[in-house]
Amino acid sequence: MAIPNIRIPSRQLFIDGEWREPVKKNRLPAINPATEEIFGDIPAATAEDVDIAVKAARRALGRDDWGSTTGAQRAKYLRAIAAKVLERRPELATLETIDNGKPWFEAASDIDDVVACFEYYADLAEALDSKKKTEVKLHLDSFKTHVFREPLGVVGLITPWNYPLLMTTWKVAPALAAGCAAILKPSELASITSLELGEICREVGLPPGALNILTGLGHEAGSPLVSHPDVDKIAFTGSGPTGVKIMTAAAQLVKPVTLELGGKSPIVVFDDIHDLDIAVEWTLFGCFWTNGQICSATSRLILQETIAPQFLDRLLEWTKNIKISDPLEEDCKLGPLISRGQYEKVLKFISTAKNEGATILYGGDRPQHLNKGYYIQPTVITDVDTSMEIWKEEVFGPVLCVKTFKTEEEAIALANDTKYGLGAAILSKDLERCERFTKAFQSGIVWINCSQPCFWQPPWGGKKRSGFGRELGEWSLENYLNIKQVTQYVSTDEPWAFYKSPSKL
Ligand code: NAD
Repeated sequence: MAIPNIRIPSRQLFIDGEWREPVKKNRLPAINPATEEIFGDIPAATAEDVDIAVKAARRALGRDDWGSTTGAQRAKYLRAIAAKVLERRPELATLETIDNGKPWFEAASDIDDVVACFEYYADLAEALDSKKKTEVKLHLDSFKTHVFREPLGVVGLITPWNYPLLMTTWKVAPALAAGCAAILKPSELASITSLELGEICREVGLPPGALNILTGLGHEAGSPLVSHPDVDKIAFTGSGPTGVKIMTAAAQLVKPVTLELGGKSPIVVFDDIHDLDIAVEWTLFGCFWTNGQICSATSRLILQETIAPQFLDRLLEWTKNIKISDPLEEDCKLGPLISRGQYEKVLKFISTAKNEGATILYGGDRPQHLNKGYYIQPTVITDVDTSMEIWKEEVFGPVLCVKTFKTEEEAIALANDTKYGLGAAILSKDLERCERFTKAFQSGIVWINCSQPCFWQPPWGGKKRSGFGRELGEWSLENYLNIKQVTQYVSTDEPWAFYKSPSKL
């Protein structure tokens, strides 16, 4: 498919169904990480805009056109959004690539997932109608109890930059399916496609205030959203340190949060793999896909000693073969990192690893053929010690570190030797062993004989410092529902007889 040449839309904040200039009229530059050039700008919301958006969302919940809709009615909006996203797929993929730096074909596959996700939550919204009111059997006949599943209210959705429109969709689609009114705060580093979602919602006639989109900085737009007393819940995906700030601020109002945070996931490779090349490719994909900026990246390779030399030789041959280029080039497989800040941070991780005594087996620097853009070669690091920063901390770049093991027990101990618990992968022909590892991994996601495939039906989320709560599947819908118990006294002719009745004169 030809990659389209497109115009970058200039947008305002999306509030109450219309485009609105931020109260303070500030804007932030949008930088193409492949060229380091400013290609547009986005509005920068502040606390004043947050307040306006929260009021619009609250009004939407009180109006019949959103607050009284059935799941089936909301499903129509979700399907209309999916159809519009699909119609604009090539353009949205190009915008995502220019804004984020991910290879165009990866961006296009993200857009496909966005479409599928809106359609999936349309189905769940419809199904919700029959599950809205369910009876709970009691041990007494004098009472009847129902449980209502109703929209939680006004929800704040804060997202990162690595899958801009897809992370937005993981939250917006279930929140709207549940009937909430939402305020989305995408990452200031990649907001362009999330703003386009605003235009799509306007075109399909989503009732005003059901979705509001506030772009801007975390401390200026995100923080007031978290602290706003009229926001009922915060769903957050991003880094651990920001997660801590959000949980701390939300705790002051006893506001529920779900946190999808970072990781340092292991991939354990045994010498009984089905095929060397297939195992090597999954290992590379698990760490270098999305330019290495994946929360669930299996960035710690835990390799059985018996195959280490041949596996690493082949891994280097495959790594050298990865095409690093402008992400708009058709067969690009590794583009630039998101920003100068991220580029410098990743290089610092590599130099610290070197200073701590690790070996940079391959990469570790800017590719020679690209002198502009935030590019870093896919990097493989060996001679790693478990006390090293490179073993312990999330890099969020194309950096794989390697340790070898002799026994299963040693492999499990190394895999779980992390404060994080998002994903974990095992490559082995022995499915009983895979089963033992599945139980032993301290993580929310396990991949067997693969790494990273992610579908919208199963739950997604971590444990330990990778956060809590689950997104995707039916689990995500529950995040946006209030479970209300309704208990009715049905023996209304019978006095309750707890107090002594006063004499009737
Ligand atoms: P980040 O924490 O810097 O920013 C995430 C979002 O939070 C942005 O929209 C930002 O503006 C906002 N923010 C920043 N400070 C805030 C504050 N004080 N109050 C409210 N909002 C604030 O993260 P990032 O750099 O955008 O994303 C990378 C991180 O996200 C990595 O750690 C990665 O592992 C994680 N991530 C996790 C998942 C997952 O599913 N677990 C998925 C994608 C990314």
